[in-house]
Amino acid sequence: MRSNSKRLQIFRRFSPNSFMKINTIGLLFFAFCFVFSVQAQNTTQRFIAVTIDDLPVVSTRRDLRNRQQITKKLLAHITKAKVPAVGFVNENKLFANDKRDEAQIDLLRLWLDANLELGNHTFSHRSLNNIELKDYQDDILRGEMITKELLKTKGKQMRYFRHPFLHTGLSMEVKDGLNGFLAEHIYTIAPVTIDNADWIFARAYDNAFDKNDSKLMKQIGAAYVPYLESKMDYWERQSVKLFNREVKQILLLHANYINSDYFDDIAKMLVKRGYKFITLEEALKDEAYKLPDTFNRKAGISWLHRWGLAKGRENILPDEPKTPDFVMKAAGVDSE
Ligand SMILES: [Zn+2]
Repeated sequence: MRSNSKRLQIFRRFSPNSFMKINTIGLLFFAFCFVFSVQAQNTTQRFIAVTIDDLPVVSTRRDLRNRQQITKKLLAHITKAKVPAVGFVNENKLFANDKRDEAQIDLLRLWLDANLELGNHTFSHRSLNNIELKDYQDDILRGEMITKELLKTKGKQMRYFRHPFLHTGLSMEVKDGLNGFLAEHIYTIAPVTIDNADWIFARAYDNAFDKNDSKLMKQIGAAYVPYLESKMDYWERQSVKLFNREVKQILLLHANYINSDYFDDIAKMLVKRGYKFITLEEALKDEAYKLPDTFNRKAGISWLHRWGLAKGRENILPDEPKTPDFVMKAAGVDSE
C-alpha cells in the first residue's frame, strides 16, 4: 500500500508543469522518429556496378610515370571503397611502334592484382557508326589477345564487351549481326544506365593541368562530384518513371586523371545515397536488362533512355543535368 504522502508525491510529479514537460519530450520523440524515418527513406538500399572504360589510361598525361600514378591512385581508391569494378581495355594502347609495350601491359596487371575484372572495349576504339560490321568484329578480336592472356594467369576469362562511345549500330541488321557475333565469342554486352560526361570534366582537368592552372583544376574538381550526384538523382528518377522502382544501376566512368583524384569522393557520395557496390554480373541479374535494346540511331545513350524511347518519347524525363559552361569551355567541347 502506498502512504498518503507517497500519493501526494506521485500527484506532484504529474503537476501541470510536468505534463508540459512530458508533452515536450513526446513531441521531441515524435520529431526524432519522423526525421529518422525520412532519413531511412533517403538511404533506401540501392545497388550499383561500376565500370571504367578506356584502360589502361585516357589522359593527355601520356608519359609512363604519370600513367602509373593515375592507375595506382585510381586503384587505391577503388580498393579502399571495396568496389568490384570492371575495367574495359583498348589494346592499341599496349603497343609502341607495333611492338608490345610491357610497361603499359604492367598497368593492366595492377588491375588484376587488385582482383578486378577486365573486359573488351575493342582494339582501337572506333565507332560502329563509322565502320563496317566486319571491320568492327576484327577490331574486337584484335582487342582481346593480351587481355585474355593476362586474365588466364589469374584463372579468369574474358566475359564482357563495351561498345566504344556506346554506339551500338545504325540498323537492326547490324545490331543483330553484332549480337550474334558476341554470343558466338561468349561475350555479354555491358550496358550503361548512369551515363554522364565525366570525359568532358576529364578533358577540362587535363587541359588545366597542361596549362599549369591549379586554380581552374580545383574549380573543375569542386564542380565534378556535385554534377555526378545530380546525374544520379536524374537516372534514379528516370528509372522510377520507367519501372516504378530503381533498377540495379551500371555507372560508366573512365580511367582518367580526374577520377584518379576524385574517385574517393564519388564513392562516398554513392554510399551516402544508399548505394551498395555490386559486380556487373550481379547488376545484370536485374530483370530490366532482359529487355531488348532496339535503339538504332547515332547517339550513344543510356539504356534507361533506350528503354524509355522504345515505350514512347514521353517516357524521357526532360531535366537531365548539363555540364557547367565553364567546364565545357575549359574542355574545348561544344556539345555533350
Ligand atoms: Zn571508351
